[in-house]
Amino acid sequence: MMYRIGIGYDVHRTAEGRSLVLGGVRIPCEFGLAGHSDADVVLHAACDALLGAAGLGDIGELFPDSDPAYKDADSRRFVTDVLERVRSAGWSLSNVDVTIHAERPKLTQHKPRIKTSLAELLDLPADAVGVKATTNEGLDAIGRGDAIACWAAVLLTRNA
Ligand code: MG
Repeated sequence: MMYRIGIGYDVHRTAEGRSLVLGGVRIPCEFGLAGHSDADVVLHAACDALLGAAGLGDIGELFPDSDPAYKDADSRRFVTDVLERVRSAGWSLSNVDVTIHAERPKLTQHKPRIKTSLAELLDLPADAVGVKATTNEGLDAIGRGDAIACWAAVLLTRNA
């Protein structure tokens, strides 16, 4: 068996008048995230982890924010596209693990829905999807609530 590990990171500024979408789930909140697409930091980080593991570039190359086609895009389409590319290259996704950094809102009650959403999108069993959330303890831009960030890691496997 061959293995490939990938990591991905994304951050978006918080913004009034925008929806907060994390892992494909709309989170009730008085602010959202600024971005060209729906600014789903969780799915963007997951896409980059997948692309990185397979050596296929990054999300900015594939879906440039200068392209009007991706204005307000539902990031679930990026995940579907990326997963297809990874599979076409012969890889199977074994698991995904994400850590969301957000001072607000409290994500504890939303984590199960995010986990279910990721499992469906990535065609994984629930026990192959890790969703953690942490604050930044009031430190830096994330700690001030000016941004939300996410790290993602994936493992790909292929029969040698
Ligand atoms: Mg992004």
